[in-house]
Amino acid sequence: MEHNLYIYNTLSRKKEQFIPLHNNRVGMYVCGPTVYGDGHLGHARPAITFDILFRYLMHLGYKVRYVRNITDVGHLENDADSGEDKIAKKARLEQLEPMEVVQYYVNRYHKAMEALNVLPPSIEPHASGHIMEQIDFVQKIIDAGFAYDSEGSVYFDVEKYNQKHNYGKLSGRNVEDMLETTRDLDGQSEKRRSVDFALWKKASPEHIMRWKAPWSDGFPGWHLECSAMGTKYLGEEFDIHGGGMDLMFPHHECEIAQNQAGLGKDSVKYWMHNNMITIAGQKMGKSLGNFITLDEFFTGNHALLTQPFSPMTVRFFILQAHYRSTVDFSSAALEASEKGLSRLMEGYARLQKITASASTSLETVGLRAKCLDAMNDDLNTPIVISYLFDSLRIVNLIADGKETISSTDLEELKFVFKLFIEELLGLKSDNEANVSNEAYKKAVDLLLNMRLEAKQNKDWATSDKIRNELTALGFEIKDTKDGFEWRI
Ligand code: ZN
Repeated sequence: MEHNLYIYNTLSRKKEQFIPLHNNRVGMYVCGPTVYGDGHLGHARPAITFDILFRYLMHLGYKVRYVRNITDVGHLENDADSGEDKIAKKARLEQLEPMEVVQYYVNRYHKAMEALNVLPPSIEPHASGHIMEQIDFVQKIIDAGFAYDSEGSVYFDVEKYNQKHNYGKLSGRNVEDMLETTRDLDGQSEKRRSVDFALWKKASPEHIMRWKAPWSDGFPGWHLECSAMGTKYLGEEFDIHGGGMDLMFPHHECEIAQNQAGLGKDSVKYWMHNNMITIAGQKMGKSLGNFITLDEFFTGNHALLTQPFSPMTVRFFILQAHYRSTVDFSSAALEASEKGLSRLMEGYARLQKITASASTSLETVGLRAKCLDAMNDDLNTPIVISYLFDSLRIVNLIADGKETISSTDLEELKFVFKLFIEELLGLKSDNEANVSNEAYKKAVDLLLNMRLEAKQNKDWATSDKIRNELTALGFEIKDTKDGFEWRI
């Protein structure tokens, strides 16, 4: 495979050339959502980031097996080893089966992902469907001597592991310090050290989601599912593991330790993490009142939003920043993205209508190579977008008849725009879906023809009424010498 793709590896802390373990196949695992609530921007960013990588690897010619899991068991409320299971709690509050809660939010998550034009992964395994694999994994870690049973729960022995390996190597945390400060436990805990994490938890009598295991009736720890499902579907060594930066510690750090302890190897070649989205500089959180779900974005139904924002605007907004930089959300920033996207899509539509001339009067070549270079530089989508905007200027000059383009150059320009806008960035025109409805188009044309007749009859009241009311509905109407043009 001839290419020059470099990606930033969180583990080595530098950009590395992407060389897969197996020739033309790539295995990629991304941590998916815990399905106990509606998707929000924090779900959209990793989904879109790794969608770009998925699309680009396929464009380079790789056969990609993309695994994105659904966490439906074992993710406890406080992200440590205590508290209620997030899904079980929701089920209890709403008097539903836990699997009803899971199905409901999985369906909604899929709907939101489809609206964001995120391609479905190759495999979407549920943690609850892989309990056997997780029990086997716990046993392997116990057999290797890195886990202990305490009153029916099994914990990973971080101190022992760290004597031989480096716990903290992904997140850069110093475990010696952590061990030092946590040496004296009050003796109440089942764990030897507070840094130890659960591989298996004994279920309390009221706990609904439980399975039989050699240690107790219980459930797996949250970190374990990704070790078990990653290796089940991608093998003991695979290419890429991704997720949000918030998962780096403890989730991914624990996954590395589990795989090293249970399988005797570092399973992942490239660790990739997208940065977080903040709202007015603050972390998103339910308690901060700045938690906006994707549905609320699409409907505009939230105090922090001035208007609804389409899924494509949200996607474009996320792609306008490099995935490793933070993005600060504001309504104003999204409004700017909305304008930018519509300018880009209008230019793209204008490009389709251009007719070629005998020759090209200005420089149009080089766009493809520049955009590919930006993609190869750790998926630099904001740079790709800026090149596309530069080229829009040229498109508009040609469309306005001020410059000319040869048929070969025109074909190349059309090809590059299609490749980057549609196939790699996954952008679509928001209006497309609406305007493709023929009956609706005809109805608007009918109204505007009636307005034209009214004007010819000097019935200004009717003519103005039609124009004003359509404008109020968001239509832009332009009078031309042949009649009219309109758009939303
Ligand atoms: Zn995970």
